[in-house]
Amino acid sequence: MTDPDRQFSDLKLERKECEKCGATWVNGVHVWRGTGSSSDSSELDLAGLVCNQNGNHQCINPKKGQTGGQTWEYRAGYIDGMIKGKSDAMKELNDNFGDL
Ligand SMILES: [Zn+2]
Repeated sequence: MTDPDRQFSDLKLERKECEKCGATWVNGVHVWRGTGSSSDSSELDLAGLVCNQNGNHQCINPKKGQTGGQTWEYRAGYIDGMIKGKSDAMKELNDNFGDL
C-alpha cells in the first residue's frame, strides 16, 4: 500500500499521452480523461474499450491486445444495472417515505 498523502505531496508529474487513443498516463498510471480516475485494471479496461479496437503500433497502452478488461458490452450491462439499481432505490424511498 502506498500512503495517499505521499502521492499528493509529490508534485513531480510525468504525463504521457497515447498518440493514437488520446489516453493519458500520469507518473506511469493510466488515468481516465474526464473523470481523472484510475484503478488497478484501468489499463486493461482501456484496452478492451479503446486500444484493442483503435490502437495500432503507435498505441502506448502496455495492456493493448490483452482481454479481460471492460468492453462496451460489459459497460452497457453495467450502466443498465446502475439504472435499475437507481430506480429500485427510488422505489424503496417512495415505499418507506411516500406517506410522510
Ligand atoms: Zn492506446
